[in-house]
Amino acid sequence: MCPNIINGQREQSISRACGLPPCRIQNPHSSSQRGSAADQEGGVMSHTQRVPVLMYHRVGEAHNAWEARYAISAAGFAAHVRALAGAGYQPVGIDAFVAWLEGGDALPEGAFLLTFDDGFQGVREHALPVLESLRWPFTVFLLSDLIGGQDVWTRQSNPSGQTYPLLNEDEIRDMRGRGCSFHSHTRSHASLPTLNDAELADQLAGSRRALSGLLGHAVDYIAYPFGHLDERVVAATRAAGYRAAFATQPGFNRQDVDRYRIRRLDIFGTDTPAMLLRKMRFGGNDGSLAQVVRYFLARLLSRLPGGGGA
Ligand SMILES: [Zn+2]
Repeated sequence: MCPNIINGQREQSISRACGLPPCRIQNPHSSSQRGSAADQEGGVMSHTQRVPVLMYHRVGEAHNAWEARYAISAAGFAAHVRALAGAGYQPVGIDAFVAWLEGGDALPEGAFLLTFDDGFQGVREHALPVLESLRWPFTVFLLSDLIGGQDVWTRQSNPSGQTYPLLNEDEIRDMRGRGCSFHSHTRSHASLPTLNDAELADQLAGSRRALSGLLGHAVDYIAYPFGHLDERVVAATRAAGYRAAFATQPGFNRQDVDRYRIRRLDIFGTDTPAMLLRKMRFGGNDGSLAQVVRYFLARLLSRLPGGGGA
């Protein structure tokens, strides 16, 4: 599970989380957006692509309020996919996404990245058929010590103590080549900043080695468990050979984002399709209408004389 906490920071205000001037509502999912007000006034138009990364966890029924945050029903997930497709969003593969971050070509209009943390069996059972029918690529971050096991790290936080099955080796092999890319979520879902140097290196390099052996290809990307990270964790992640790492701080990603702190939008099981689309448009984890109002109020105030966005 990946709560929305990163290095002790809570979600920032929506405009700061976006890290850029708000997009235009008329074309809210455009992957291009105008440059700063100064650029526009000077007649210089810069186009900066921004790409959301969606973070899901389990796909299946939730049995209490805690689970409802992290699990989306099969019907709910299918509705999300229909909403995304209907709005013109198009997922790209993780290799193309990272190649873009590393300075490669622009991604298609409406590009986003679809990720699932932890590797639950429900992703194969419920999400794979929907995504495969659309040929939509997606990424699952696996725990190399818990393949074929259960999400035991949630026992303390789930009020019912219920755990759920994770993909086994045969299921992982079956999903390869069907639009699914597998990468690392460490060995056992430890909170990385709490580990000593040797344990940290083992979680990072150990999972990379084990998953590479299972998958038969390099495992170049990782998602930090719980989104917990600090400078030492980032340095160790880089040293372990990972090319990019995914955090849980919300917001859009521009090409100059720190590749070891890639932002993701946390999609809850309780998010309606309309809430999901608002998260995509405004780059935050709050898909409520109130958030939209705050977003435009902040934008309006920043444009008033003396407002200056202060
Ligand atoms: Zn997780």
